Amino acid sequence: MKKYNEKIPGPEELEKEIGNFLTKKFGQGIKVVTPAVLPHAMSDEQEEAKAGHRKFSINFDLKPEQLIAYLDQYIIKQDSAKSILATKICTHFNRIKRIERSRAELNDIVGLIKNNILMIGPTGVGKTYMIKLIARKIGVPFIKGDATKFSETGYVGGDVEDLVRDLVREADGDIELAQYGIIYIDEIDKIASSHNVVGADVSRTGVQRALLKPLEETEVDLKVPHDPIAMIQEIEQYRKTGKSEKRAVNTKNILFIVSGAFSELVQLIRKRIIDKGIGFGARISTEEAQNHILQQVKSEDLIQYGFESEFVGRLPVRAVFDKLTEDDLYSILRNPNNPILLGKKLDFDAYGIRIKFEDAALRTLARQAYMENTGARGLVSAVEKALLYFEKTLPSIDIQHFPVTNAIIDDTNKTLRSLNEPDTRHRWELEFDRVCREEKKIVRQYIECNKSRLGDKHNLALNESRIDTISDFYCKKILDIDYAVTTIKSYYDHIKQIELQFFKNHDINIVFEEDAIDFIIEQLINDKVTVDSIYNRLTGDFQYGLKLIVEKTGKNRFFISREALKSPEAYINNIIRDEMRKDREKQ
Ligand code: ADP
Repeated sequence: MKKYNEKIPGPEELEKEIGNFLTKKFGQGIKVVTPAVLPHAMSDEQEEAKAGHRKFSINFDLKPEQLIAYLDQYIIKQDSAKSILATKICTHFNRIKRIERSRAELNDIVGLIKNNILMIGPTGVGKTYMIKLIARKIGVPFIKGDATKFSETGYVGGDVEDLVRDLVREADGDIELAQYGIIYIDEIDKIASSHNVVGADVSRTGVQRALLKPLEETEVDLKVPHDPIAMIQEIEQYRKTGKSEKRAVNTKNILFIVSGAFSELVQLIRKRIIDKGIGFGARISTEEAQNHILQQVKSEDLIQYGFESEFVGRLPVRAVFDKLTEDDLYSILRNPNNPILLGKKLDFDAYGIRIKFEDAALRTLARQAYMENTGARGLVSAVEKALLYFEKTLPSIDIQHFPVTNAIIDDTNKTLRSLNEPDTRHRWELEFDRVCREEKKIVRQYIECNKSRLGDKHNLALNESRIDTISDFYCKKILDIDYAVTTIKSYYDHIKQIELQFFKNHDINIVFEEDAIDFIIEQLINDKVTVDSIYNRLTGDFQYGLKLIVEKTGKNRFFISREALKSPEAYINNIIRDEMRKDREKQ
């Protein structure tokens, strides 16, 4: 048996052999595609090694309001969708946890309904962004697909099983983790049947039917059906081990979220409401009114729209997203966590150029984006359009600072031509400083508004000077606010460690005042010092003087302020003077 095994070629060789064979027989049009997930592609040691470096760490302990607060940091508007999604997704995962705690009793409950979600809303309003953020926060893999790619059988186009396999790939081959993943299918309205078109409708209904089982529970084989390589690998596996191992993903705990723009749905709901004499008949012209009507969506409206009742029944949770106004787009750009500007900062930083956006320019970009009518997606194109020629030209010019102001982006060609003049360079520098100050003000405002949430989350007092420090740090780096606060908090903890270390080594109790801590943090973020060098300097500046005071007076607790750090000698002299005065007063 062993000897025979040695003659069997490896998977790559096999793939090559079969490829050559098929090409000879059928010509170049035929290609062999390796399935996304190869059964037993990894050895046990590899599996173990990987488990130690998991890309995901599942956080099932979240409560809905914590998740909403997290989303608030990133998502503008969409309050109703935020509440619904955060609540239902949190409950979905907490329910899984609860069931696993008492598997024996709870497994007996038949017919538990999974809270799959239907999202209704136009393009670019934050649907994908919200799900991505939630998946990241909970620590589960997430995959997005498009319903227009589905075909009834799955053989012609893709099908939902492909998405399940993609989820395993996203989970780095970890099937167990993939079984807790989130699958998001966009453009679901495109598989609603319209009652006038016959041919297309049969297949659309077929696609809906094909989705029914996965939405509830089914086993998806990791092997792509009819894939010759997968079949051969299975044979190879069987020869090696004498076992035919089936690797499948169960979709019971996979959360499905589907979405679409549902353009004519609002009229259907309105008609139902009028027919039943409930009201809201009058006008649906304003966006607010339309949204209000959409919020009343019922299963019967979706069935009328062209969905099978079984399909609608598997999507019990519905969330309606608002259209974004020009002001909303402006708020998105002003949000220091928004990935569009952070991404652009990163692009220029890759060429050694720091880029800052003037507030008025953000307003202009929001206006241009709004006119594109693609929600926040328009922001990306507006920013790209405004900056492309700068991105092309500036890396070849010796320039480190790029202030994006209305004046500068209004006439790109003229601006770029004038860049050789020293006057322009000087003006750019002045403008850059101004825009930096402006950015810092906006960031400060943001932190002020979120002070209690950020403070509680990071267990850090956010006084005026600390907010100032965090704003400086944010403006200096490319990161989101949460990460900026996390870093400052870690500096804070390190500084607190210095107090302990000082006590351990010198038997003297020092306590840094908050302003001293900020003073040290400022130096740390400017890369002027390290925690070690701070400790050493502190020892040099204070150890001898404080020891003397301890010996002479017995005082053994010293509060170190910013001033003390700046002038240690004066600080020590002051204490000595105070202690002497107290002594005299006693006598
Ligand atoms: P869709 O609704 O079509 O899924 P996306 O969620 O993909 O739209 O939005 C595209 C990008 O626009 C996101 O990555 C995000 O940067 C930004 N964006 C969209 N909506 C919002 C929002 N409500 N708040 C903040 N940013 C948003």
